[in-house]
Amino acid sequence: MTTAEMTTTETTDRTAVVAGAGIAGLAGALALHGIGYRVLVLERGAEPPAGPVEVAAASWVRPAVPQGIHSHTLTSLGVKVLRERAPHVLDAALAAGARLLDLTEALPPGEGGREPGDEELVALGCRRTALELVLYRAVVALPGVEVRHGPAVGALELDPGDGRVRAVRTDGGERIAADVVIDATGRHAAARSWLRGAGVPVAEDRVGPSGLSGFTRFYRLTGEGRPGPLNRGNAAGDIFDHYAGVLHPGDNNTFSIALATLPGDRALHGLLTPAGFTAAARATPGLAAWLADGASEPISPVHAITSPPNTLRGTATSRQRPVPGLFPLGDAACVTNPLFGRGMSLALAHAFRLADLLAAHPTVDAALSRAAAREAESLFLPWYEQSAAADRERIARWRARIQGASAPAARPSASAALASAARTDGTVWRGLTRMLMGLTTPEELLGDEKLHARVRGAAPAPARPQAPARDTLVRLVGAAEGALG
Ligand SMILES: Cc1cc2nc3c(=O)[nH]c(=O)nc-3n(C[C@H](O)[C@H](O)[C@H](O)COP(=O)(O)OP(=O)(O)OC[C@H]3O[C@@H](n4cnc5c(N)ncnc54)[C@H](O)[C@@H]3O)c2cc1C
Repeated sequence: MTTAEMTTTETTDRTAVVAGAGIAGLAGALALHGIGYRVLVLERGAEPPAGPVEVAAASWVRPAVPQGIHSHTLTSLGVKVLRERAPHVLDAALAAGARLLDLTEALPPGEGGREPGDEELVALGCRRTALELVLYRAVVALPGVEVRHGPAVGALELDPGDGRVRAVRTDGGERIAADVVIDATGRHAAARSWLRGAGVPVAEDRVGPSGLSGFTRFYRLTGEGRPGPLNRGNAAGDIFDHYAGVLHPGDNNTFSIALATLPGDRALHGLLTPAGFTAAARATPGLAAWLADGASEPISPVHAITSPPNTLRGTATSRQRPVPGLFPLGDAACVTNPLFGRGMSLALAHAFRLADLLAAHPTVDAALSRAAAREAESLFLPWYEQSAAADRERIARWRARIQGASAPAARPSASAALASAARTDGTVWRGLTRMLMGLTTPEELLGDEKLHARVRGAAPAPARPQAPARDTLVRLVGAAEGALG
């Protein structure tokens, strides 16, 4: 389909340009196609490799998406959206080797037995690139959708009269007319510079530090079955008092291990080396069995990333002066700490909510912009606030441990009591897990009085497996690094 065809087609009078073919842009294209739009996706990166997903996922190089080669999991919210809105994509992911993980396997001992709602407590074990590739292939197969690689969207053209979006301009200077422009450009949120370029004031963002440097390595299982339990349902490991070590099962017998510290933690710089990484992973509760001889082999180097801060973009909220026809989507609207693994699920949910809104409001005007901003706020604000608050507390705790001070006394918070009770009480576990997996909001969880009554009556939780102390971990990593150096 050419651009000219897009603007003159008989099949629909609506065209959308989507900037960015990440999870959000692809989900947006799928959702807009579903309501009759003709869609042109402009992706500045190169086309993904051809061939079987299992192989192509490992060789897809995307410099503009640094998180793409890091540990990912799709939480229950994302699975729910796919099941309800794009079941063929979920089926294709499963056919390509992804696995649905039954989170109820992590119920407290003796609390088994199915309950209504448990069918939603699943996550998708799949490398990020594998899921994205499946989604990409589903999108490019759609009639009326074109994905064009190379040109970046560089500017917006607004109607001088009513301020509506009329077209985008690529960085090569091509003008492409559109009724609707979706900013799915990821965490840098390019719409902010498009708006400035068009003379529109940009609303301020809300930003909170995420305080996280991550190190990921991928592995393939070589033995039979799962080497160890998934104590977190979709993951093994935990967030400890000075670092995090978490393992996520992926597609096709792969798994990833992610270790995380505070940015600038020079004493653990050796996590970047395979030997240092392996030493720390082996010392982390829940991970050692997966790395035992004969259980697995590494299939990637260690990748490092500093996570972007938690950010709720002003452009996605009702603080932004409406620009009819422009809609931020996914990370371009809100970024939350990857420790919670919510970004892809929120992007999927956001895409279909936006399409529902566009279907219900055929006129692309300021009222639609305000409705979209309210929708984005209702979806993202609870998670932005939860991530930013949890990170503030964790950063202070980790910093104190790393500096050798005693950690700030943990305030006896409702969430700490919930987390403890969830380790012995199945009902509390379900409530907490539904929130962690994005099926309910933190407010809904904390406002559930019946659940709090159960929390008060819950048996004391058994002691958790101990992670290595800070100085032990530093010594282990340093020794492993030195042994190879
Ligand atoms: C370390 C890490 C681990 C994570 N783990 C998880 C997890 O376990 N589960 C989870 O759900 N989420 C996770 N996330 C979050 C998740 O990766 C993001 O939420 C998700 O990538 C957002 O998708 P997106 O499409 O909005 O942005 P992106 O994936 O960043 O895609 C943006 C796309 O836009 C393109 N682009 C940029 N500018 C332009 C332009 N001007 N014109 C055209 N194209 C452009 C880019 O090339 C890119 O392809 C993690 C994030 C990090 C950093």
